[in-house]
Amino acid sequence: MPSWRALPAAQQPEYPDQEALARVVTELESFPPLVFAGECDQLRARLGAVARGEAFLLQGGDCAESFDGVGADDIRAKVKTLLQMGAVLTYAASVPVVKVGRIAGQYSKPRSKPTETRDGVTLPTYRGDSVNGFDFTEEARVPDPERLKRMYHASASTLNLVRAFTTGGYADLRQVHAWNQDFVKSSPSGQRYEKLAREIDNAMSFMRACGADPEEFRTVEFYASHEALLLDYETALTRTDSRTGHLYDVSGHMVWIGERTRQMDGAHIEFASKVRNPIGIKLGPTTTPEEALEYIERLDPEREPGRLTFIVRMGADKIRDRLPTLVEKVTASGAQPVWVTDPMHGNTFEAASGHKTRRFDDVLDEVKGFFEVHKELGTHPGGIHVELTGDDVTECVGGGDEIFVDDLHQRYETACDPRLNRSQSLDLAFLVAEMYRG
Ligand code: PEP
Ligand code: MN
Repeated sequence: MPSWRALPAAQQPEYPDQEALARVVTELESFPPLVFAGECDQLRARLGAVARGEAFLLQGGDCAESFDGVGADDIRAKVKTLLQMGAVLTYAASVPVVKVGRIAGQYSKPRSKPTETRDGVTLPTYRGDSVNGFDFTEEARVPDPERLKRMYHASASTLNLVRAFTTGGYADLRQVHAWNQDFVKSSPSGQRYEKLAREIDNAMSFMRACGADPEEFRTVEFYASHEALLLDYETALTRTDSRTGHLYDVSGHMVWIGERTRQMDGAHIEFASKVRNPIGIKLGPTTTPEEALEYIERLDPEREPGRLTFIVRMGADKIRDRLPTLVEKVTASGAQPVWVTDPMHGNTFEAASGHKTRRFDDVLDEVKGFFEVHKELGTHPGGIHVELTGDDVTECVGGGDEIFVDDLHQRYETACDPRLNRSQSLDLAFLVAEMYRG
């Protein structure tokens, strides 16, 4: 029996039929791994470079993937947006950008409230497609373990297409650069980035003139990550690696522990401590330096750069106040985690229309605060973790191609939190690039 079973596990579904769950888990245990343990090691090494200040992490994707969203167009648009952001950041930072999607497994959501009330009717909350249905009906909201198998298959098909796009020619840097030029030329928000785009263009022309045509231009390393929330699923996909004898959670390359499940004596931390994948942990504004040090002790006792990523999500109004002590104390302890900013989750509010939203300016301000703190302390601002989509949705307000509060209803499609749309995501990449250089 895995050791986490003896500990309290927050945010787990209450399945009405435990035998049905056990049958599903047995089936999942017989399914092949979704990723190879060696790839997890490779990502750990890449993140080690981020921890040492030699690379930058770009992690992004949906708040919640949905089974309906497993279509070529959706996946292509997300990958394309991340690749475009990656190209801009690579040029500006002059270091490799490690690209990790919130993709191929991000189907489970922790929730602040167990129930939801609409027009006087109260039902269990939606907890992600891996647990129950989004429709506001009693039937849909019953947790169904069969959904864990759909999660596996949806993850497998997504990953398959992502691998095809990133290694099969679609991700060629010249193509990605052409898309960025198109964004700069044709969108009202893109024009202010003309200078940066021209510099990239010059660099590309120079390399072309030199006859450089490296393999790295044609294929891209791209990794998959999700929140390790449902421990029955993650455990069923945890396998002993035949090469090393270590346990790996082969449901994704990197998994993270969320703000609501990071209890020190809880099951999630215990689970994560047993697998060799790179592990992320979300740190909200109440995190104390002592807690951060204890996470290092629990999850990274060997102090191995790349093993542990602190994904800080404090809120634009708190980051400059709370982050410095954390970074200082952790650095003084000799540990070298990757520091990443999640500028989304501390900046959510409800608009008068009832839509959960975020202001692009708050998102940007939290990223700025994150860079300022690291600059001040001489530590490395390792990367950004964002909720985005490749589609032109209207979920966050602001951005160069401005979305107003009154626009939110037009294309509000997220199954959970509001995401940056395509143009807001590219905006963010160019602005972070300017920050990096500035
Ligand atoms: C999320 O990443 O979607 C999420 C729920 O974040 P957090 O755990 O930081 O609240
Ligand atoms: Mn979210």
